[in-house]
Amino acid sequence: MAESDDPRVVVMRAMVVASPGGPEAFEAWDVPDPQPNDRDCVVRVLACGVCSHDVATRSGTLRRGIVMPVICGHEVAGEVVEVGRGVRNRRVGDRVLTLQRRRMCGACGACRSGRETLCRSAEFLGDVGLNGGYAEFVLVEEDNLVPLPDSLIPEQACIIACTVGSELNAIRDVGRVRAGETVLVTGAGGGLGVHGVQVALACGARVLAVTSSAAKVEVLEKLGAEVVQARAGEDFAEQVRDMTAGEGVDAAIDNVGTPVFQSVRRSMALGGRWVLVGQLTGEFVPFNPAQLFLSGVSMLSAISTTRAQLYDALNLVSRGQVTPIVTGSFALADVAEAHREVKNAAAVGRFVVVP
Ligand SMILES: [Zn+2]
Ligand SMILES: [Zn+2]
Repeated sequence: MAESDDPRVVVMRAMVVASPGGPEAFEAWDVPDPQPNDRDCVVRVLACGVCSHDVATRSGTLRRGIVMPVICGHEVAGEVVEVGRGVRNRRVGDRVLTLQRRRMCGACGACRSGRETLCRSAEFLGDVGLNGGYAEFVLVEEDNLVPLPDSLIPEQACIIACTVGSELNAIRDVGRVRAGETVLVTGAGGGLGVHGVQVALACGARVLAVTSSAAKVEVLEKLGAEVVQARAGEDFAEQVRDMTAGEGVDAAIDNVGTPVFQSVRRSMALGGRWVLVGQLTGEFVPFNPAQLFLSGVSMLSAISTTRAQLYDALNLVSRGQVTPIVTGSFALADVAEAHREVKNAAAVGRFVVVP
């Protein structure tokens, strides 16, 4: 916290997007120090993951729920420095991780049945105004914080909710992947995919990992996947058919969306489950519903992570069954550089920013 020109106003440094654009849209602003409402904790950001969601927000590809000017970033590891009067379960000094939300209602049918990712009153962290992880401090209601285990460093831990948690949601809970099944993971070298590969392996599946990058093949093979290498836009269904004796895959975890839609469709086995998790472009896709139901293929989707899934994700990490893969870290002021790297997609895993 620094003094502004007006000594009564305490300010913090943040990287703000005032209107959508390229990575250069980020501007360093001094914004008012966050003041906690009743159930808020003020969290000092120790590290924040750089997610494709942030890229879509910054570029204007994602518009729903976005209120600009905005501070992006929902993958925060940090330390509680102040709590609202109604906070019961967190104290100043606690090391914490955020779920992807700033708040949820805690009372609706979705919240009461362990499906709080579907809460209609939930507010995604880093989508609304000047409160997000690309800053020195962030406000998060206590229900959306979980303890950061001592064994984990913030740079690694911050990405677990959004990457391992979301893929656990997609693979285990929505996709109901069982031991012995064959699972296709698209965008396998990316921040979501490289963790999806590990989660699917932890579920006992055989994993076919799709990547466009020759440089990522070795890492994916080391994790235990069989690699489907295809250039961007190239149809990989025939490779998948060859690798599965013509059968196709029992489940597909699609972290890419429109660009691989037809390839994934043609890769599905009879009765397969196709779980949509990511969408990297703003493009729409045409398809004929009969192409799915005549093969008994089910299209499903998963979004973000519940608290219960985050605890399970942390257990997978602490047992060594899943390793959070962080490619590199940037100073907060260099977040535009981190976004350029995400766009280049040259490295495996996630980037993080450190205030
Ligand atoms: Zn994320
Ligand atoms: Zn709710």
